[in-house]
Amino acid sequence: MSITFVLGFRALFANEMGLALTLLVASVVFAVSQRLQVRVPTKEARTTSISLLISCLMILTLLLIITGGKDNTGPLWIYLVPPVTMFFAGFVRGLLALIAYTVVCALIMFTYNDMLLLTQYSYAFKTRLLYSFLTVSFLSAFYEFSRQKSYDTALYLKEQFERQAKHDHLTQLLNRRGGQEYLEHEYARFLRNKQPFAIAIADIDRFKNINDTLGHEHGDEVLRQISKAFLSKLRSEDILARWGGEEFLFILVGANEENAVKALEKIRNCLNTNPLVINGEKLEVTSSFGVCEVNQGMTLSHAVKQADKALYHAKDTGRNKVCSASSLT
Ligand code: GH3
Ligand code: MG
Ligand code: MG
Repeated sequence: MSITFVLGFRALFANEMGLALTLLVASVVFAVSQRLQVRVPTKEARTTSISLLISCLMILTLLLIITGGKDNTGPLWIYLVPPVTMFFAGFVRGLLALIAYTVVCALIMFTYNDMLLLTQYSYAFKTRLLYSFLTVSFLSAFYEFSRQKSYDTALYLKEQFERQAKHDHLTQLLNRRGGQEYLEHEYARFLRNKQPFAIAIADIDRFKNINDTLGHEHGDEVLRQISKAFLSKLRSEDILARWGGEEFLFILVGANEENAVKALEKIRNCLNTNPLVINGEKLEVTSSFGVCEVNQGMTLSHAVKQADKALYHAKDTGRNKVCSASSLT
């Protein structure tokens, strides 16, 4: 934008009105394209801005080839086209645009030169211009292709690391960090629309005995199977996370305490009636649950503490049961 503006002014003072007008109009189009891209944050605005920028640059450079610009130096500016096109349009669209541009350049210089060119270039100059342009285009395309590949790899790795940071390797459930994030998300939604939700903490009963009798590896298998059993009984909108060693956090979206207790009783009963199969042997595993409905004026950490208290109560009063926080007071 700045360069075409300055050159446009120079041409104006040199009384080269055609060149001045072309450069100043191009400068304005570049400015509009830049404003559009910075000010309007939509995808359509970005596409329009890029189309405007690239077509303006291409038309301007074609005009410079046709007219010769200042002392036949106009064609020198075509080297701007490949990097700018690749950078803004990306590899595939950039490549297509550059192929079309090269064909038009070749037609102007070699096929319709008598009709279109307002100046004279030697045959050697035109062929060298085309070869060097193709070389710069190839290098720009190659560079853009590598850049896009590196970007995609970085994005993939970022997603992988983010997933790993929020998920538990053993059960593939959300880990404590992931669970806490969902808790905060659900709590923010509750503050906005006042739709209730309940949280529950489950702790497998006498899990240490399972580890001691079957070994740690089979203990791990119990955790995997329990996670699947819990997950299979939840609605798709509910969240399950591995909260600690053999503790699980449930976020029951849109549920009040009564609904939550009912849902967890179903899960508890299901565990009782469907023993796990570990190493080919049936194994009865039970779990205790503490539930708390998140109410108006209740902080998230208080709700978690209340669910924990209810869980301890379930453990203290015989295990394999669901206790709600409100029943403690
Ligand atoms: P309670 O009914 O009171 O909950 O008894 P418990 O034996 O389940 O409770 P305790 O907290 O004493 O034991 C929990 C055990 O869980 C101890 C720990 O070694 C085991 N544990 C924690 N994480 C893992 C794990 O990833 N894999 C295995 N196999 N065991 C784990
Ligand atoms: Mg425990
Ligand atoms: Mg336990």
